[in-house]
Amino acid sequence: MRKTIVAGNWKMNKTPKEALELIETLKPLVAERDDVEVVFCPPFIDLMLAVEATKGTNIKIGAQNMYYEESGAYTGEVAPNMVKEAGCEYVILGHSERRAYFGETDEMINKKVLKAFEHDLKPIICVGETLEQREQGITEDLVRLQIKIALKDVPAEKAVLAVIAYEPVWAIGTGKTATSVQAEEVCAAIRKVLCEIYGEETAEKIRIQYGGSVNAGNAAELFAMPNIDGGLVGGASLKADFAKIVNY
Ligand code: PEP
Repeated sequence: MRKTIVAGNWKMNKTPKEALELIETLKPLVAERDDVEVVFCPPFIDLMLAVEATKGTNIKIGAQNMYYEESGAYTGEVAPNMVKEAGCEYVILGHSERRAYFGETDEMINKKVLKAFEHDLKPIICVGETLEQREQGITEDLVRLQIKIALKDVPAEKAVLAVIAYEPVWAIGTGKTATSVQAEEVCAAIRKVLCEIYGEETAEKIRIQYGGSVNAGNAAELFAMPNIDGGLVGGASLKADFAKIVNY
């Protein structure tokens, strides 16, 4: 039985003070749901205080990115051991905004995934197609390639700890949600790829989230689909609405 996981990607929002305010607002609102894993992914600058502020609660903290080198002359980057030592359990890797604005490739994402596991961090690996790619009919081919490269050299015992976030680029921040049928179709295809790589037993254990304009009104229908094990939430994770998604 896969445990539903709802993660909030705060993106480049919330100063340390604002982060604390949001955490204090959400903490009691998500406290009851012990059958759902709740993860907040604030900006790097907020991570340590977010870890501190959520100690003893059911909320886990994740970073939104990290670099794949251990240390050195990489100005502006954050190393895996820094993310780990800050107290993070998760790290989002390969978000479409990182791919589109910061030139991240599937190969870079694979290096980051391997590093995350080396440092005992669980990666939330984002995949998904643009509107143009969907219209070209290559969604499943593309997602398949993204998954196969991201998980290259990842053994099954690590892969079960990963979360795959299917996020159609055209649905992110646009208010256009994929229908539950569209989302399920791709998530089922993702599970099939995982099955090809690792076999059915492992594939059945890996959680797949849907992301793209998830809100309090559509979460229940999306999360009820057989291959959707929760959501990666952007805009709606910055408000009390996030609690309604967790309590879908
Ligand atoms: C995201 O950033 O991962 C995301 C899904 O954003 P939104 O929920 O705002 O579409």
